[in-house]
Amino acid sequence: MQNIYNKKFESIGIPPKKLATQFEKLGERRFRAKQVMKWIYSRNILDFEQMTDLPTELRLWLTENGKITLPETVEVARSDDGSAKFLFRLDDGKLVESVYIPDKNRDRNTICVSSQVGCKFDCAFCATGKMGFSRNLSSTEIIGQIYIVRQYIAQGGKNLTNIVFMGMGEPLDNLDAVVDSIEVLNVDAGFGIGHRKILVSTVGIPEQIEKLMNSDIKPKLAISLNAPNNRLRSKIMPINKKYPIEKLIPLVQKYFKYSKRWVTFEYVMFAGINDSLKFADELVRLIKDLPIKVNLIPFNEIDGFDFKRPDDRIVMRFQSYLLANSLVVTIRQSKGRKIAGACGQLAGKEVLNSR
Ligand code: SAH
Repeated sequence: MQNIYNKKFESIGIPPKKLATQFEKLGERRFRAKQVMKWIYSRNILDFEQMTDLPTELRLWLTENGKITLPETVEVARSDDGSAKFLFRLDDGKLVESVYIPDKNRDRNTICVSSQVGCKFDCAFCATGKMGFSRNLSSTEIIGQIYIVRQYIAQGGKNLTNIVFMGMGEPLDNLDAVVDSIEVLNVDAGFGIGHRKILVSTVGIPEQIEKLMNSDIKPKLAISLNAPNNRLRSKIMPINKKYPIEKLIPLVQKYFKYSKRWVTFEYVMFAGINDSLKFADELVRLIKDLPIKVNLIPFNEIDGFDFKRPDDRIVMRFQSYLLANSLVVTIRQSKGRKIAGACGQLAGKEVLNSR
């Protein structure tokens, strides 16, 4: 067999149809893709020589020409609440983070995964935004993070149940790789995780949400609203100048029809900025009767940022107002705060070397 590809044949993080086509181009049967995937994702075998249901010639060829790339784990920071933050180094030396978030009460084990190194959108309160944008991750790099964190979860005797694209970066700004990675997560030969256990969180980019609706996948969608009017939203999320709130509202209906699930509006709460009942009332008026649930996220304070976390009482008062007006509202419990592993705190800093 000849290697028609100029580089090594990547075998992890490639969606099944693409991998099958790549095998086909080598003159191999399409079902080799499924076989290889099963070894990697179900049996945790990363050595082609051990993939005993492949023909010997193919095994030898893959050993020579194939690869299964995982990021290097630089550090794991564990928190008392069981959550853990992983710092990974990619092939080109760039750093990204993932977080493992256990939830015993609901028997749920979630990985929060990064989709980009840095981010273009520069939200005023976000640590990743302050890094600027470096590059997109490949689906191999997205799946690599999940693969390693899943092994960690398995060591604790637990199963991975949920994935949230809420780590570093804007997933819809790297849609192709995110869609590819969700296919791998989804199929039985991959991680076998259902669409409703996968959540994509976005700053709200209408044309990319439309594109997502043209793919085969139907993850849950969360839009980071963070303010109920354009004046305030544009101040804290520059993207709002380009895509104001009224452009997002019709998409909520549309995505609900597409996915059959309610869309989430995330509302990070900042003390004295968007946490008064006046804003709660504006939010009610904005989304009443829409298939939207609200997730209130008390801001996780970050060094060097002026934003403050509101008192719990204020957060609960805001929630009560929404509930009294028949909205569906949850408050995000902040896990991993001490390890700076909570939402928006991921900045891919190498802690070890700077100590
Ligand atoms: N770019 C995507 C996904 C990454 S941010 C998005 O914007 O949705 C994931 C969530 O964390 C968003 O709702 C964002 O508003 C929130 N977030 C960012 N920084 C935060 C912080 N310091 N504290 C709490 N939530 C934060």
